[in-house]
Amino acid sequence: MLELKNIDAFYGNIQALRDVSIKVGEGEIITLIGANGAGKSTTLMTICGMVPPRKGEVLFEGRVLNDVSPEKIVQLGISQVPEGRLIFPDLTVQENLDMGAFLRSDKDGVNRDLDQVFGLFPILLERRKQLGGTLSGGEQQMLAISRALMARPKVLLLDEPSLGLAPLIIRQIFDIIKQINRESNTTIFLVEQNANQALKVAHRGYVMENGRITLEDACDKLLANDAVKKAYLGL
Ligand code: ATP
Repeated sequence: MLELKNIDAFYGNIQALRDVSIKVGEGEIITLIGANGAGKSTTLMTICGMVPPRKGEVLFEGRVLNDVSPEKIVQLGISQVPEGRLIFPDLTVQENLDMGAFLRSDKDGVNRDLDQVFGLFPILLERRKQLGGTLSGGEQQMLAISRALMARPKVLLLDEPSLGLAPLIIRQIFDIIKQINRESNTTIFLVEQNANQALKVAHRGYVMENGRITLEDACDKLLANDAVKKAYLGL
């Protein structure tokens, strides 16, 4: 469904991605793990059209996305939940969700999806009129995921959803990620430093080091891989 083919990406003269190739099949949960600065967020930015590749291709349902605008990429069915959540702090929960549906004109569909996100995260229904900035970190992450779902994506890109959250909340968020994938067949590309949790929810995983993919395999194999255990699982 989504494919990165031999991508090189740069910030000015700094090369952030080197010959990166990743395949995400329809209905899969794929994770990309790696240390700080490995290039994980840049990979997501490349998919979203924010950092266009200098070499290689991003393909979505067979269409080349390299020169497609970020707005159009959302319309085609790819939504990102950015690192640090980046909700709108001065808008209410409801208004944040409305922003997620900004490009849609199917009112009935939007209302159905609103019911769906309130079903996934009942706390957001309770906090509907509260300002986004006054929510807890976990609630803001729930809101950021819900806002992305309001665009009704075919592929949901998640950038470190566990960042800065307590273990109990992290488990809750990862359970919901599995539920979203299972119930609405949404394809998920999950970028994480929390390799242990990410490899437990995803089907396949990629390991990134210094802008390169160094390993790819089924998650159970990566969890059993000695190099992964040592570098990312603290075992
Ligand atoms: P983290 O987990 O810390 O977010 P990451 O794996 O997502 O790290 P990236 O944010 O993609 O890594 O960064 C990859 C490289 O690109 C790093 O060397 C980083 O310093 C550099 N980089 C990222 N954003 C920019 C930018 N806007 N301008 C210049 N260099 C950047």
